Amino acid sequence: MPAFPHLLAPLDLGFVTLKNRVVMGSMHTGLEDRFWNYPKLARYFAERAQGGVGLIITGGIAMNRRAWLAPGAGTLNRRVDVLNHRRVTEAVHEHGAKIAMQLLHAGRYAYHPFSVSASAVKSPINPFKPRELTDAEISDTIDDYSRAAELAREAGYDGVEIMGSEGYLLSQFLCRRANRRTDRWGGDIEGRMRLPVEVVRAVRRATGRDFLLVFRLSLLDLVEGGNTWPEIEATGVALEGAGVDVMNTGIGWHEARIPTIVTSVPRAAFREVTARIKRALKIPVVASNRINTPELAEDILASGDADLVSMARPLLADPELVNKAAAGKPEAINTCIACNQACLDHAFGMKRVSCLVNPRACHETELEYVRAAQKKRVAVVGAGMAGLACASVAAARGHDVTLFEATDSVGGQFRLAAVVPGKEEFRETIRYFGYELEQSGVKLKLGQRASAADLVGFDEVVIATGVVPRVPRIPGIDHPKVLTYAQLLGEKRPVGERVAVIGAGGIGIDVCEYLLHEPNISLKDWCAEWGVDLTSTSEGGLTAPAEAQPRRSVWLCQRKPPRGMGTGPGRTTGWAHRLALKRAGVKMLGGVEYLRVDDAGLVIRHEGREQVLEVDHVIACAGQESVRDLWIDDPRFHLIGGAEVAAELDAKRAIAQGSELGARL
Ligand code: NAP
Ligand code: SF4
Repeated sequence: MPAFPHLLAPLDLGFVTLKNRVVMGSMHTGLEDRFWNYPKLARYFAERAQGGVGLIITGGIAMNRRAWLAPGAGTLNRRVDVLNHRRVTEAVHEHGAKIAMQLLHAGRYAYHPFSVSASAVKSPINPFKPRELTDAEISDTIDDYSRAAELAREAGYDGVEIMGSEGYLLSQFLCRRANRRTDRWGGDIEGRMRLPVEVVRAVRRATGRDFLLVFRLSLLDLVEGGNTWPEIEATGVALEGAGVDVMNTGIGWHEARIPTIVTSVPRAAFREVTARIKRALKIPVVASNRINTPELAEDILASGDADLVSMARPLLADPELVNKAAAGKPEAINTCIACNQACLDHAFGMKRVSCLVNPRACHETELEYVRAAQKKRVAVVGAGMAGLACASVAAARGHDVTLFEATDSVGGQFRLAAVVPGKEEFRETIRYFGYELEQSGVKLKLGQRASAADLVGFDEVVIATGVVPRVPRIPGIDHPKVLTYAQLLGEKRPVGERVAVIGAGGIGIDVCEYLLHEPNISLKDWCAEWGVDLTSTSEGGLTAPAEAQPRRSVWLCQRKPPRGMGTGPGRTTGWAHRLALKRAGVKMLGGVEYLRVDDAGLVIRHEGREQVLEVDHVIACAGQESVRDLWIDDPRFHLIGGAEVAAELDAKRAIAQGSELGARL
């Protein structure tokens, strides 16, 4: 029996056949916004096509200027734009994959003052208030959709995806939350679905029967004023009748205060909702959100919950995902850990997207791993993320690499993150690098603290010795009730029911999660915690979150003022951390002065008043200091990762720096 038979089965749609069931879902990369980046975009998609994916959906492309997500966003409404897009379609077709262009109208999510929507109702996540579209402008917008689809066909696309979820314009028309109209484009669901249905009809008329038309429908809005299941199902049926070939699915508006794709969301959390729409439709349905392994995708397809699976971030992380699955080697896949740190955080920060575990993503023409002209003996000291990335890339390029690691396992600081509830996915990256080391022939010396003598005779020496936790200078810091975060997470030291955390950076937040939550949360508990009603009996699929039952009483402290405290470094994940900590009753204290630790607890000055936080334990999460004992100023020596700069060290920087050096040696 071949590996993953359902995942790899072709799908015949009559006029086009997809070679397998993997859809690379739409993901804004930043490359589609500037014409001079189209060669880079073409290479990025070509590598995914070569990697075996059946259907690629591009990042959102606007059909007119008002539709722009941000000024100058990628647009297709003039014949001159066709040439850029043709580069992309030709590059993908060369490798036998199909490609559809996503038509995205941002509506009230547009980050410019010319935004339009169903009604003049501002989104809570955008300072710009939209203007209500007039009847005539709605007709023009429909024409713009069909014109852009026609041009997409001319540019060689196999189809288009019409974005109707995540809270963009068509979602805004579909839901009472943003649609207060009383004309034929508003009112009951028949009126509210009129625009999406008319857009589908117009696109179908303009492009003909043999052009793939995908619609992305929101199956769970997760906002007040969102739709109920009967409304969602009726919309799906009407869209199918209007000419949609494949129904893709989306979960949650961007302004929803419930996480839907971050690492703490259980894998495939929304498959049962996809299965429900599939039962109501005759056309193929795509499952999406938190599907990151071929095993899981196969299970969804085999159980009949969906006909195709969408993986956007997983293909950023590993362009070869499908080929590796087909070769029966899923263990070789560089799995997306749903951290959002280099993809969505970049997209929302208007930076070019990349991937924390694969820094080549969207940089394929700039970071190339080419065979080394001359084989060298390379020593890498430290098997944290920087050292692992450097050793595996250098060895894969043909160098003879020895990797020294003082402890008995690889992963460094990342290993500590992997024990945090909601970050279980992080183990996948450690597994992947372990596999890479073995495949590339790196000589791994575990439990061996390298000395200067060990490094003699190597052509290149990479010092990736990382960091140690900073111990803050506070009287009583050597009290037995004080632990560093590494002692807590790494050595699993027991702690009492009342805990104070010193430092509210990313690790302070992780420590709070560890103290308050159980690992591997079930879907039922996750829905209860966040107030998610998967049946959408209630508006938007929202229900009252369950009363939190915190396991401990936790204070989270920092010296800086409290503004933005508890959000951590992630732009797209910070709000979810802060909400989770608040719900669990964490007391956040900013502007704190630490006076001492003693038998009573942590003594602080806060708002001018001395007070004792009566705690059993104090956990120091006060940043890190570099370890670079082996560093010497010699051209053979290279310093990377936390050993180079401890401040704001994160795995994204460590892996990128390690990979870049590995590619240069
Ligand atoms: P961090 O983000 O730099 O935070 C260090 C904390 O320690 C700050 O809150 C700081 O607050 C406090 N601090 C610094 N020096 C101190 C001192 N001498 N005494 C008392 N408090 C002190 O570092 P981190 O939390 O250790 O995280 C390390 C890196 O990993 C960061 O780059 C972070 O972004 C990354 N990380 C990311 C994630 C993620 O989910 N994306 C998770 C964990 C870590 P005050 O100075 O205001 O007191
Ligand atoms: Fe996945 Fe994180 Fe990479 Fe984004 S940055 S694709 S979430 S691993």
